[in-house]
Amino acid sequence: MNFFVILLFLLPAIVMYVAYQAHLFKEGKAFYFNRIVWGTEIGRSRYVEVDAILMKRISFYRKLSDNGKAKFVHRLSKLLLIKKFVAKNKMLLTEEIKITVCASIVQLTFGLKSYELDNIKGFKIYPTIFYSSFLKANLRGSTPPEGLISLSWKHLEHGFLIDNDKYNLGLHEVAHALKLSLKYAYSYDTKYAAYVKEWEKFGHVEFLKMKRGNESFLRKYAGVNEHEFFAVCIEHFFEVPEQFKHNLPKIYYHLCILINLDPLNDRRDYLLVK
Ligand SMILES: [Zn+2]
Repeated sequence: MNFFVILLFLLPAIVMYVAYQAHLFKEGKAFYFNRIVWGTEIGRSRYVEVDAILMKRISFYRKLSDNGKAKFVHRLSKLLLIKKFVAKNKMLLTEEIKITVCASIVQLTFGLKSYELDNIKGFKIYPTIFYSSFLKANLRGSTPPEGLISLSWKHLEHGFLIDNDKYNLGLHEVAHALKLSLKYAYSYDTKYAAYVKEWEKFGHVEFLKMKRGNESFLRKYAGVNEHEFFAVCIEHFFEVPEQFKHNLPKIYYHLCILINLDPLNDRRDYLLVK
């Protein structure tokens, strides 16, 4: 057998070996950024576990650079340490559920300096829709000014799984928490705080239009009150940014400034280019 025939037999194995090494290097690069640049004290196996869950579940995370992924995992790891989780109605809480829930906070506040939302102490997780005796209604989620956010896992999971249907329960509830942080948190993002009134000025016209019952690009629920208007805007902003920008360019632009990121710039970690 001459050399070239042997090489032909070995070629698939060589290609697989090189691809495997390249994969290890890539994984190692993000881990390096996470450890050295962001100072996260988690081991490689934990990093690989968190990364795999985020890659599977969060499309925002999938498009980040290695350094962007490292920043995401850094913030997520910190939130997992400080947020409390309570299982309700026989819910079986897993690490994957906790990571997906906290990813809602990291995604929404990715462009902000302050991201802890310390008015929110943690989450009550229900398997599906739950009854609120306080509001006397069946709910998918609710966010009090401070304390624990209540969430239906079924609907939260679906929100991230279908990422372009204008529904994302996790981002919706965290948007309420972000707004409430200005009044109820010990510390909040000062740039967000400084711009929120300006953003509301631009959003108000569309909100009044919806309140009067007029058609809008946004889901009808945005017309309920100004809090829901903001939360629904956030869902559309991340789920259908192109349509949002096309239909309501001013509101889209000022929302980009408000939370300091542009979902359309997915090649550069959603960096806002002013
Ligand atoms: Zn709401």
